[in-house]
Amino acid sequence: MLSKFSKLFLFNSYSDKLDEFKPINNWIVKMYLCGPTVYGLAHIGHARSSVTFDILNRYLRFLGYKVKFVRNYTDVGHLEHDADEGNDKIQNQALKEKLEPMEIVQKYINYYREDMDSLNILRPNIELQATSYINEQIDNVKSILDKGYAYEVNGSVYFDIKKYNDYFKSYGKLSGRNIDELINETRELNNQGEKKNNIDFALWKKADDKHIMKWKSPWGYGYPGWHTECVVLGTKYLGELFDIHGGGYDLKFPHHECEIAQSNVLNNTNLANYWIHNNLVNIDGKKMSKSLNNYITLQDLFYNENNIFNKVFMPMDLRFLFLQTHYRSTLSITKDSLESAHKGLMKLINAYLYIDVLEYNVDENNINNEIEKNIEDAFDIIFSELNNDLNTPSVISGLFNIVKVINCIRSGDIKLNEISKELFIRLKSDFKSIIKDVLGLYVKTIDKSLFEYIINSYKTAKYRNDYSEVDKIRDFAKNINIRFCDSKDDIYIEYI
Ligand code: ZN
Repeated sequence: MLSKFSKLFLFNSYSDKLDEFKPINNWIVKMYLCGPTVYGLAHIGHARSSVTFDILNRYLRFLGYKVKFVRNYTDVGHLEHDADEGNDKIQNQALKEKLEPMEIVQKYINYYREDMDSLNILRPNIELQATSYINEQIDNVKSILDKGYAYEVNGSVYFDIKKYNDYFKSYGKLSGRNIDELINETRELNNQGEKKNNIDFALWKKADDKHIMKWKSPWGYGYPGWHTECVVLGTKYLGELFDIHGGGYDLKFPHHECEIAQSNVLNNTNLANYWIHNNLVNIDGKKMSKSLNNYITLQDLFYNENNIFNKVFMPMDLRFLFLQTHYRSTLSITKDSLESAHKGLMKLINAYLYIDVLEYNVDENNINNEIEKNIEDAFDIIFSELNNDLNTPSVISGLFNIVKVINCIRSGDIKLNEISKELFIRLKSDFKSIIKDVLGLYVKTIDKSLFEYIINSYKTAKYRNDYSEVDKIRDFAKNINIRFCDSKDDIYIEYI
């Protein structure tokens, strides 16, 4: 029988299959996630990546692993266009907002942290900024030059991909690309500039006089290329080979291919054993982009009436919506899907809040084997599907099977003595752990004294048949997102 102690399988983009997860050091997992380039507010796409790796982080912790989780902020070197062209995104934004580049960085890091906290993302063990490690990046570039896999032209240093691939034979394996095709494709662009081959990438870029963010290097004033930082930051805190490297699908190429290439040259490793990628987000079936005007920041979705959905949603609605789709599938977000995610979340949370305070105050004298089997089967599905590459949609359907049982207990259709005390305790603790600890879901509940006050007022008004007062209290309750439910022998509240 499958249980939470069965083996965990994760889809490894590098091997292109489900691999059993075996960390390098028994119970310690070292995980690196590419963080955002901090020149603007985080959007829904950032949130999906964060939630995906938060579930992985939480589940590994739940299994008993000690997770060392590192995430960076790109605050230099990410240029406007691919192929190392255009201005630095941070510098552009600084000019636009008339602020120092580092003020831009701090401003958007502050927003990012706020957004991640509201999504209930566990904070990393170590957060890093690329600009704090310029010397280390220069050292790496020097080593790659010394080993003969890079070349300097006019103060810039480029990684020689063709030479790398002639020896290591693995460029393109992660993203499923063929180097000859890549060279042919980019040759047609005919804007090779100073590179030997267009697919070569900048390890270090020369800065002209107008460039604000620049540092002194053996090749003159310049700044590191975008792909340089993660290798330095990852190896500095997690070692030359760590367990998991994560990011969105769009980072597989060129960013992660370029990281693997540098790591092979520097340390003869692929940097990480498991390369894990989450799929991307569409809005109403269309790619999210500023030009289509369907670009939704988390700040707009959570706090401002954004002009796409014309409604604000709770961060937990978005989190729950993500969990209803497997992280490797594309997800199209609509107003309807967010609204139904909200309803599903509330159903789950109401069952959670009810079972959380329910005591087993009966004698076990009427055990119903069929009900017990339903509960056990549901938990088996939940744990085996978590182990099956974090298959959260199936985990949620398993949870809803448990919700059905909990709601029957509440309505009296299932009596508590039909379940053994032992299974009841497991039902309570596992249901809570999966929702709270693994899936990271919660809602803000109302204060206990307010709760008691309004439920007592409601009961009194009903007892007196004072229906205008009952309506008033119902309206007030609605404003704070709760409703009263009248059952056979009790009145209780539900969150809506
Ligand atoms: Zn990265």
